[in-house]
Amino acid sequence: MSETKKSLNFLEQIIEEDLAHGLDRSKLKFRFPPEPNGYLHIGHAASICLNFGLGLKYNAPVNLRFDDTNPEKEEQEYVDAIKRDIEWLGFQWEEVLFSSDYFQQLYDWAVVMIKEGYAYVDDQTSDEIAEQKGTPTKAGSDSPYRNRSVSENLDLFEKMKQGEFEEGTHVLRAKIDMSSPNMLMRDPVMYRILKRAHHRTAETWKIYPMYDWTHGESDYIEQISHSLCTLEFKHHRELYDWFLDRVYDPEKLRPKQREFARRNLSYTVMSKRKLLQLVEEGHVNGWDDPRMPTISGLRRRGYTPKSIRDFSETAGIAKRDNVTDLALLEFHIRAELNKTAPRVMAVLDPVKLVITNYPEGKEEMLTAENNPEDEEAGFRTVPFSRELYIEREDFREVANKKFFRLKLGKEVRLKNAYIIQANSVVKNDEGEITEIHCTYDPDSKSGSGTEASMRKVKGTIHWVSIEHALNAEVRLYDRLFTDEAPDSHKDKDFKEFINPDSLKLIKNAYVEPSLATVSSGDNFQFQRLGYFNVDPDSTNDKLVFNRTVALRDSWAKIQQKK
Ligand code: ATP
Ligand code: MG
Repeated sequence: MSETKKSLNFLEQIIEEDLAHGLDRSKLKFRFPPEPNGYLHIGHAASICLNFGLGLKYNAPVNLRFDDTNPEKEEQEYVDAIKRDIEWLGFQWEEVLFSSDYFQQLYDWAVVMIKEGYAYVDDQTSDEIAEQKGTPTKAGSDSPYRNRSVSENLDLFEKMKQGEFEEGTHVLRAKIDMSSPNMLMRDPVMYRILKRAHHRTAETWKIYPMYDWTHGESDYIEQISHSLCTLEFKHHRELYDWFLDRVYDPEKLRPKQREFARRNLSYTVMSKRKLLQLVEEGHVNGWDDPRMPTISGLRRRGYTPKSIRDFSETAGIAKRDNVTDLALLEFHIRAELNKTAPRVMAVLDPVKLVITNYPEGKEEMLTAENNPEDEEAGFRTVPFSRELYIEREDFREVANKKFFRLKLGKEVRLKNAYIIQANSVVKNDEGEITEIHCTYDPDSKSGSGTEASMRKVKGTIHWVSIEHALNAEVRLYDRLFTDEAPDSHKDKDFKEFINPDSLKLIKNAYVEPSLATVSSGDNFQFQRLGYFNVDPDSTNDKLVFNRTVALRDSWAKIQQKK
């Protein structure tokens, strides 16, 4: 029993306690409530995995509720993108709902509140209202309109609704307590006038409800049992409960708000507002730029749903703010692709290698294992010929003993092929090597079982046959920011930390011909180089790959050191 208790996160413990105290299991219900004002990011994935994960664990419904009370910032494009991302992550909602569906109900409740003396129309400007708010240690002062009659309030509120007033001239406020130690309880605004078209209700409404008024009541309407939100809403809980008290019917379920820490990730920013700036100011190529921490960016980068779910699971749900290392996310995609991604050979910075004792015009189809981690993955063939490309950095004319790649006079194995020895180089006028001349040992073919093939040489390098290789564009990504917490600097804008080298474009890479028929999104391991996937920009004429992640596993190293 204590074992299972231990493995529950603190929110699950809260739910278990509620069940133990008589909450009917069939009443459990959760929601994920995004505002459709941007694309989802890896932080949202934490909330998605949490809420939908609870749904799966307790076999309870989870609603997708769009919190769409800000007509200026919300768009259908975002609604569609959010749905696509949640489905792609592998989750299924019970119902798609919109806070805007509840505008009429919320309005009706507000009218009841006015009648019961719990709300009033204030004619002051937002600045005047702010001035009367007081400070955490000093009580606020009452608005001169606080004690308006019910009938006057009803009349004014109706006129607000009809669009008879200009924006900013009137608000509806809850009448709570201007001296409450919780500043949010000092007569918060419930409605403001906004004469903007809404992406769903169009011109119908001239007044829009505020978040605090909308959120809890939406939870109540949907009968959400546990409304889980991030820590910054902790102080809102008192208001959430106060608003619920205005409408609560004891026959019904009373939603409970509980808070958990936001997911922060190192070397990135995670607010939609900031991500939008990156998009609009052209620092990245759209919301799905592979450098973005958005779900769509990660997808385009080659991340899989499972790797993101596994990451969310390992990073866990915390009670206090913290920053998760980006390396943990990379660890999970590497772990998965190591098991699933076919191995292929690609050369990103090619230099020509000629095997002088290999017959001209001859070609062989060599057998190569698709994935040593997956027995079922089988084999493919890779063409071999006299002239190859290898990576420029895999050759040195002279090098010390620690250099296990190719150097003059020494041997190396060509992956899946033969042992070669480098004999001489050809250089251009600038002194740059243009060709490496080698000889090969015809008996050393990989897997041929001969004594020569078993011979141990220190290094193995990858290659492609020049005649057969396909040209490809390869996009190498680095962190988008040079600072671990770019938005934590008070005196500096987060954009000052944008990494100028976050994208390295390689126009002339070469890949083995088995990649001729790839599809957008396919993942591969380019041997010795990292994991890559096919970008949607890729066509039959021009292949385009993204590097998802390098092979090196810095997270595992960090963990070992601990
Ligand atoms: P942003 O500042 O990025 O716009 P938000 O909280 O305003 O974030 P919402 O669309 O309102 O974005 O969020 C939907 C849900 O996702 C909310 O329940 C919110 O608490 C949760 N969420 C948002 N960001 C994170 C995060 N970084 N970690 C965990 N949960 C998050
Ligand atoms: Mg928000």
